Amino acid sequence: AKQQGRNTYQWFSEELNTSANYRVKLRNELQDAIEDDSLTVYYQPVIDSRTGRARSVEALVRWEHPSRGLISPGDFIPLAEDTGQIIALGKQVLNKACRDMVKLHAAGFRECSVAVNVSPIQVRKDDFIRTVQEALASSGLPPEALELEVVESAILNDTDQVIKTLHELRELGVRLAIDDFGTGFSSLSYIKLMPANKIKIDRSFIKDVIQNRSDAAITQGVISMAHHLGLEVVAEGVETEAHAAFLRKHQCDLLQGFVFARPMPFEDIKNYMNTHGAC
Ligand code: C2E
Ligand code: CA
Ligand code: CA
Ligand code: CA
Repeated sequence: AKQQGRNTYQWFSEELNTSANYRVKLRNELQDAIEDDSLTVYYQPVIDSRTGRARSVEALVRWEHPSRGLISPGDFIPLAEDTGQIIALGKQVLNKACRDMVKLHAAGFRECSVAVNVSPIQVRKDDFIRTVQEALASSGLPPEALELEVVESAILNDTDQVIKTLHELRELGVRLAIDDFGTGFSSLSYIKLMPANKIKIDRSFIKDVIQNRSDAAITQGVISMAHHLGLEVVAEGVETEAHAAFLRKHQCDLLQGFVFARPMPFEDIKNYMNTHGAC
């Protein structure tokens, strides 16, 4: 498939404009990275707003490209979704995150859980449940230590099918978070159909939460709604102490952002947990 991909690229290269050209090249390079299993996973701590200590981490994929340097997932996840490569890539990230978490448990941080982002395309694939089961079984990670983050827009297509899959995942014992909450333009009534444990408020609401009255009202409203539904709330993109103070004041359960820690390689997470972990 790799060979064929390369030939296709050569054949098309003269006709396509540079940006389409670039995408094909990037796709082939991403294919190599997937086949070489060379993508890495960084981890960002999620902080309990009451104790100030971390009890989970979010897994974020990184591509250290041999010549272009570090490429952000924002630049290759959409491409991988278009090409279908997200299936293989997503499996690798899931397996790595589970294995790393088992290592962290073995190092003494037994209560720590890991949140893994899953694309709607992965969730809609028939064998997704099996993929998750296999990642848990082969790593030995307890299902309660795995949380899957699904964007709310994931349920816009194939609603019944997706909701059914999410229920099956809950039956396995894994946790579910609705990611980027507030950006998916989905009807609020879907929330009661989603068997989620957690809502993550998108960072676009947090950015100006101090100055912007609408953002403040939306943030407070989402926290209150989530609590009434029995869900925990995470705020993402917490960049300043003022953000954190506002969110603590309004009883946001969990905080994630650069003011606490940036995503870091697995080797650094152990040290971080030693000094800042609640696990
Ligand atoms: P996301 O799931 O919303 O992840 C949070 C993003 O916000 C991460 O960007 C993180 O580094 C960044 N971030 C964390 N704290 C702050 C902060 O205080 N300020 C700002 N400005 N940014 C902050 P990253 O790692 O570049 O990932 C971007 C997006 O790529 C993720 O957004 C997620 O949608 C996607 N992504 C990352 N890893 C994976 C993956 O393994 N699978 C899938 N399907 N998507 C992934
Ligand atoms: Ca996420
Ligand atoms: Ca998010
Ligand atoms: Ca986001």
